[in-house]
Amino acid sequence: MTTPMALLKADSTYTFKIFRYDSKTPEKEPSFSTYQVDVVPGMSVLSALLAIRDEMDGGLSFRCSCRSAVCGSCAMAMNGKIELACRTQVASLGSDLIILEPLPNFEIIKDLVVDMIPFWAKYDQIKPWLIRKTLPVGTEIRQSEEERNRIDQFVHCILCAACYGACPVPSRDPEYLGPAALAKLERFVLDSRDERSPSALEAVNNEKGVWGCDTLFKCIEACPKDVRPTDAIVGLRKSLVKHKFKKLLGMVKDED
Ligand code: SF4
Repeated sequence: MTTPMALLKADSTYTFKIFRYDSKTPEKEPSFSTYQVDVVPGMSVLSALLAIRDEMDGGLSFRCSCRSAVCGSCAMAMNGKIELACRTQVASLGSDLIILEPLPNFEIIKDLVVDMIPFWAKYDQIKPWLIRKTLPVGTEIRQSEEERNRIDQFVHCILCAACYGACPVPSRDPEYLGPAALAKLERFVLDSRDERSPSALEAVNNEKGVWGCDTLFKCIEACPKDVRPTDAIVGLRKSLVKHKFKKLLGMVKDED
């Protein structure tokens, strides 16, 4: 099949070395396959991958959907840098050799496709939904511009897991919740409509949660949506310390 990109005039030829592995045949060692791709100006890494799969190797596996940096499904390592394949231009990688590898910190299912189930399980642990006590579900609750601005950056998270792949902690502690889940928790803690009690934060008041972060800001560097998960983790730490002092001073009850 000829892709629309193939109809444009190639600017230069790039060498793509792509990680290959199949969890269905674990006895076969991981390897790299090499492809020569004619790259047109502005061509994204995802377009190059689609061209490889359509024209050279139908067995190559990778995830993609929206092609617009919205679905978050095409995060991978490109020459060691974690990014979304759909919004990264091949030429921007600064080399005519492009090495593509799956997201670190995940089990590999096939080639560039990783098992996201543990990531979603951690995300689920923080209860990523509005918790209300005083109003029935479905009642409209207005926010001021200022209240909305407080959560703005976290709302932009597309759950691509680039931050989790870039984080150094999961490789030594697979139980660590990770930057995306903790950023989402802070999004709800800061949300003026959410009524979860501060004691609900106790679930992350440990090394698997907010105290596991090394504060190396790798998640911020990797995030394609300018979310700052480290800031969220620091915010949660502050909330926990504040709550502890309030409890010590008798300003809140244990269950608050
Ligand atoms: Fe992706 Fe950024 Fe959300 Fe992490 S915080 S999942 S990098 S959008």
